[in-house]
Amino acid sequence: MTKVVIITGASRGIGAATALLAAKQGYAICVNYQKDKASANKIVNTIQATGSKAIAVAADVSKEIDVKHLFKITENDLGPISGLVNNAGVLDQQTKFENMSVERWQRIFNINVIGSMLCAREAIIRMSTQHGGQGGAIVNVSSAASFIGGANEYVDYAASKGAIDSLTIGLAKEVAAEGIRVNAVRPGLINTDIHASGGEPGRVDRLKEAIPIKRGGTTEEVANAIMWLLSDQASYCTGSFIELAGGRR
Ligand code: NAP
Repeated sequence: MTKVVIITGASRGIGAATALLAAKQGYAICVNYQKDKASANKIVNTIQATGSKAIAVAADVSKEIDVKHLFKITENDLGPISGLVNNAGVLDQQTKFENMSVERWQRIFNINVIGSMLCAREAIIRMSTQHGGQGGAIVNVSSAASFIGGANEYVDYAASKGAIDSLTIGLAKEVAAEGIRVNAVRPGLINTDIHASGGEPGRVDRLKEAIPIKRGGTTEEVANAIMWLLSDQASYCTGSFIELAGGRR
């Protein structure tokens, strides 16, 4: 049976690279996005052109009603899910902590943390062997910011990724006996559009000399780790983290 995976925030960046790799590995894929329908459709068309199944579903992961819709549509169109990649995530303009508004914090935590929790809950309800499911795997996309801290740029974003780390550890223990593995990746400086949304599109280039490997990472390098954690090759791996930060700590 074809494995079905939902990848949140897959219209571009790390999510899109993961969707393309998942298709190569034989998965049927739900490409979730929030706003950029054209980019999501482009990823779906690329996947379909290779003969694999994919759908694009708009859903704001921070909204419960949207997340329920996302899972329902995926099940209806692709079949029972066996994997979730909690990839959708945002940051805001670089600034010192003392300048940040509560509205900014709420937006970041609602998308990065509550969004991942809402999706994980829907996935567990469907995949848990205690609920008649077949088991499965969840991969959370955390960040090296969770241990570096984001000082002077986005401590709030880093804190949200710290919450993702705790979620990964706790949930992994809670659902291990129900056939579900929960792991996370912690990417470092990866070349995507996210840095422009923080106000510095060239951030990876500016900081690359501080990376032991002396370059930013690619979305494909992160996607490889995500897909390994999702796969049966990682069958004894739960509550674990893979750092993809070129040695930066
Ligand atoms: P990106 O290029 O900015 O892409 C973000 C994706 O998330 C887009 O597909 C966007 O969809 C989607 N998205 C945003 N808000 C959403 C929401 N409320 N609901 C559903 N989808 C939403 O980001 P990226 O760099 O690939 O980052 C992906 C993940 O990796 C994030 O969790 C990020 O924190 C993490 N990460 C990135 C880096 C890095 O250096 N790039 C490093 C560490 C961790 P639309 O375009 O349709 O709005």
